[in-house]
Amino acid sequence: MTLLIRGASQLVTSTGTVARRREMLGTVTVLPEVAVLCQADRIVFIGSEAEALRRCPEPDEVLDADGGCLLPGFVDPHTHPVWAGSREEEFNRRLRGESYMDIARAGGGINSTVRATRAAAPETLLESTLARLDTFLAHGTTTIEGKSGYGLDLDTELRMLETIREADKVHPIDIVPTCLAAHEVPPEDAADPERYIARVIGEIHPEIARRNLAEAVDVFCETGVFDIQQTRRLLADAPRYGWKIHLHADELTPLGGAELAVELGALSADHLVHVTDAGVSSLAGSDTVAVLLPGTSFFLRSPYAPARRMVVAGCAIALATDCNPGSSPTQSMPMILALACLEMGLTVEQALTASTLNAAAALGRADQLGSLEPGKIADIVVLDASSYHHVVYHYGVNPVRHVVKRGRVVIDDRREPCPRTSVE
Ligand SMILES: [Zn+2]
Repeated sequence: MTLLIRGASQLVTSTGTVARRREMLGTVTVLPEVAVLCQADRIVFIGSEAEALRRCPEPDEVLDADGGCLLPGFVDPHTHPVWAGSREEEFNRRLRGESYMDIARAGGGINSTVRATRAAAPETLLESTLARLDTFLAHGTTTIEGKSGYGLDLDTELRMLETIREADKVHPIDIVPTCLAAHEVPPEDAADPERYIARVIGEIHPEIARRNLAEAVDVFCETGVFDIQQTRRLLADAPRYGWKIHLHADELTPLGGAELAVELGALSADHLVHVTDAGVSSLAGSDTVAVLLPGTSFFLRSPYAPARRMVVAGCAIALATDCNPGSSPTQSMPMILALACLEMGLTVEQALTASTLNAAAALGRADQLGSLEPGKIADIVVLDASSYHHVVYHYGVNPVRHVVKRGRVVIDDRREPCPRTSVE
């Protein structure tokens, strides 16, 4: 299978196989009027259309970008894509002034999602997950990380990760699975959190590893959830299972999660709204990617992570949606880029690199994904605009017209004008 993408106004991408930092974060390559040739799931050539046609005179498929801009598919390195139920009522109560804690005490919050997810049939979970993936893809996201963590018991954690495995098989989007059994202490163990920690370490993690359902492990390291010592114990077996590490770190309080992530050689430390100076400098001196989630700050109307300070210090930053029913129910990376620019002060170029190449690095996949270069997987977005700035500038709408996933056109959303009434 060969695919030729022609007629693009420009192609914009970071390059390389490692995360970009400092001034390199905002240095992107802009190539005007180039064609892209894909063979099987890879990009094989970027250059003039004439040269592409000389190499492949009769491509199996031709996609006319029709003056649109080409970007790498977005990589979303932090999502919770499997859940049942919905929390829009709770959202509206928050808007009316009730606090998250009040709502949680009244049976809302994460526990309501845990109850609904435990009760959901596997096929219901799969269907709702696939529908969510459709929305990710339509907004230009071609790879996501996906966490468990709304089961908080062995059966449901397994069911969530099996749902991710099944969805990955049948949907164009690639999902990188993470076990987040340590997302919260379940209500039945609220009086004795150590009992749940023992179950995660002794029962849930080993069974998930035995079934090979996860590539990484994550812990919600936070005051009132799992402290630094508990997090350390929960992650101690990761090397034995061959798991990489992500960490929910310093979201609500400066607990030292960033430092712990670096010490453990984690792929990423995520959230980091309250990261300390020491945390920033340890991230800057490491390969651990700082995954920032401005959608969560926006939705909770709370402070944003110090993105610019981290860039200046030399941290490798990435952006993600944190897609989840409680604190960031969106799949839109373009929306996240807009918040990263308008609320955290990134430039459009920095936000692009942070949501493509650096996001791929946060998943340990920057050698395969995250830029448009020969040899990389052919995950390509065609914008409904001639310049890449429109991803952020034209905020709040979906700027994506086509999506190519592994060399196949999977979204084709050509926009016809609405009917006009002719006036005689
Ligand atoms: Zn999260």
